[in-house]
Amino acid sequence: MRYIDEFRDPALTEALLQRIAQLMLLMPERQQLPLQIMEVCGGHTHAIFKFGLDRLLPDNLEFIHGPGCPVCVLPMGRIDSCLEIAAHPEVIFCTYGDAMRVRGRHGSLLDARRQGADIRVVYSPLDALQLAADNPQREVVFFGLGFETTMPASALTLQQARRRSLTNFSLFCQHITLIPTLRSLLQQPDVRIDGFLAPGHVSMVIGNAPYGFIAENYHKPLVVTGFEPLDILQGLLMLLEQLHAGRSAVENQYRRIVPEQGNRLAQQALAEVFCLKASSEWRGLGEIAHSGVQLTPGYAEFDAERRFHPQAQQVADDPRSRCGEVLTGRCKPDACPLFGKQCTPSNAFGALMVSSEGACAAYYQYRRETA
Ligand code: SF4
Repeated sequence: MRYIDEFRDPALTEALLQRIAQLMLLMPERQQLPLQIMEVCGGHTHAIFKFGLDRLLPDNLEFIHGPGCPVCVLPMGRIDSCLEIAAHPEVIFCTYGDAMRVRGRHGSLLDARRQGADIRVVYSPLDALQLAADNPQREVVFFGLGFETTMPASALTLQQARRRSLTNFSLFCQHITLIPTLRSLLQQPDVRIDGFLAPGHVSMVIGNAPYGFIAENYHKPLVVTGFEPLDILQGLLMLLEQLHAGRSAVENQYRRIVPEQGNRLAQQALAEVFCLKASSEWRGLGEIAHSGVQLTPGYAEFDAERRFHPQAQQVADDPRSRCGEVLTGRCKPDACPLFGKQCTPSNAFGALMVSSEGACAAYYQYRRETA
């Protein structure tokens, strides 16, 4: 298939793998202390396991799986707030499908729908906006979650809601932003990361400049990378070339999609609709300063939290789960005592098992037999 097959070419895969193996041989110091490369994004994690890329690499080169799956870092308290809003009889609560199975303290959105709440899965916030237009007697709430990848669609939808005077539409905002979380990871002394594969889709919006501090202040190389097997291997090779040469820079493997400056129109929409919150909670990682957004005063009338006043809740994870350690690369999913027992994709205990982009779900699907 065009635009797919050429990025899965076996001969090119083999050539990249040989070059990676040669470079690793040129770094003998890494025999004792394997290189740890964090793929930040859940899309990369899924592709690495689906295509078995980690099994094709030298033993002294490891992927560690970062916090870039928005469902995986969704705090349980926020799900409880969603349930509280969805319980209002006038509300049609709309969400992306991935969020349906994440459990809060009082169950999941899927459970609430079974019990009668009007909760609908949509593919775009525009679908939710259309529901608001079609149901003027109801309140339509869209659960906006995700990084800069999905944030522009929420922003553009709110701009449309204003233009169309759809006052029965609002956003429950759980949009988060990647850069402060990478900074927070780098500040933790026991997290060892030698380089980053950065997510192509987020970078398509924000551009490459926001990653500059990683190379300049922390002297770690970073390569913005696409999601096909050849993209990931080429991104990895670019990282290794930097490490071998003792360089640290931000490089862009995904130039066919990611412009150096990002998407100016999307950035303008984000700046108009969203502003940074002082602090946001990430499941497994705790509170991180300036890592989430809220609506600007100009769009506050569309804020579902102002409209429905759900109680702010913080819910601690079960002490047996190791979600946070997996998210920061401190351990692999199969080191969690719940993996594959109490926690499986059909009965997910932790959020990393819910989304197909979660590291635990990817391990379960593609690595269970070795765990
Ligand atoms: S197996 Fe489940 S509980 Fe354990 S780290 Fe993974 S998602 Fe969290």
